[in-house]
Amino acid sequence: MINVTKTYLPNKKKYQKYVDEIYANGWITNNGPMVKELEKRLAKYLGVQNIILVSNGTSALEIAYRTLDIKGFAITTPFSFVATTSSLVTNGIKPIFADIDAKTLNIDPEKIEEQITPNTSAIVPVHVFGNACDVVAIDKIAKKHDLKVIYDAAHAFDVKFKGESLLNYGDISTLSFHATKLFHTIEGGALIINDDTLVEKARYLINFGIENAESIPELGTNAKMNEFEAAMGLCMLDEIEEVLEKRKNVDDIYHKELVGLVSLTTQNPHSTKNYGYFPIILKDEDERLKIQKALNEKQIFPRRYFYPSLDTLYYIEPKQKCEISRTISNKILVLPMYPELSEEEQYHIIETIKIKMDA
Ligand SMILES: *Cc1c(COP(=O)(O)O)cnc(C)c1O
Repeated sequence: MINVTKTYLPNKKKYQKYVDEIYANGWITNNGPMVKELEKRLAKYLGVQNIILVSNGTSALEIAYRTLDIKGFAITTPFSFVATTSSLVTNGIKPIFADIDAKTLNIDPEKIEEQITPNTSAIVPVHVFGNACDVVAIDKIAKKHDLKVIYDAAHAFDVKFKGESLLNYGDISTLSFHATKLFHTIEGGALIINDDTLVEKARYLINFGIENAESIPELGTNAKMNEFEAAMGLCMLDEIEEVLEKRKNVDDIYHKELVGLVSLTTQNPHSTKNYGYFPIILKDEDERLKIQKALNEKQIFPRRYFYPSLDTLYYIEPKQKCEISRTISNKILVLPMYPELSEEEQYHIIETIKIKMDA
């Protein structure tokens, strides 16, 4: 069976050495030494000023909204993983959707401006499949209307924009380090905070609002990463170059074999790729069903990322309709993409698609 993704497990002996260390010092959570070390190493590796590790990517989004005091309405994309929108709703913020650009699959800046009202306080774009949003246009709109920008950068680990980290755009960017992501800590996530004055507040918020034994200055929650997760991150980071290299090889083969046969997304020309996903866009829903069925029959399981379009969620009020996002979500498939996918397996996938496209 070939699934859309397969969790990468780094060297087991090395992980065991970290576990031995954790057992020896008895510190297993609450901002321990490995969390601190991973924060330091990640900040350097990613090229960012402030990084705070948290329990998952969803809590990273929630902490970001609370750090920036987001209230009222936030303009976001209907084409993402559900957590981008559900995290707004669970924090009392109303998602207002701006439809996507059909070529990049990212939120369309021109449609953002149409949705701004006096109730809008933030924009929450997503760098879908690691392809950078039009960050320059989005930041310009945000400045003009005095809005905060929180980038859901769950897919954008290690992506550079015009030579520097993409994560340095916006007020806060959030990452997910879930097991299915290209860099992971089993479960985990991070906030990249570009305003130094907000870092302390975010640190209180992830730890019940506590400053010290005498002072609780914020209304907080528990979103801490533990030492076993940080140890996994440290092991992953040692092997990340190899992971990215292998992913690039997979991407190169798909690209070479499928370009012209199916639609591929248009890459932001200023953005590097991290080879996290390989989405293909079929002609229509029928063609997508045909390809999916043929692959499934061979025990190959691509995923419909993202489906459903988030503007169709039952809890969205007022009702909204984003035609482009709905259409794309009906005809997109994300192909299996992970470092251990062999060339043989990959050509098996490609041939299955090619035969059906000709049929
Ligand atoms: C994975 C993901 C999240 C949620 O991250 P978790 O770590 O699973 O909570 C949020 N947004 C996007 C775009 C994601 O892909």
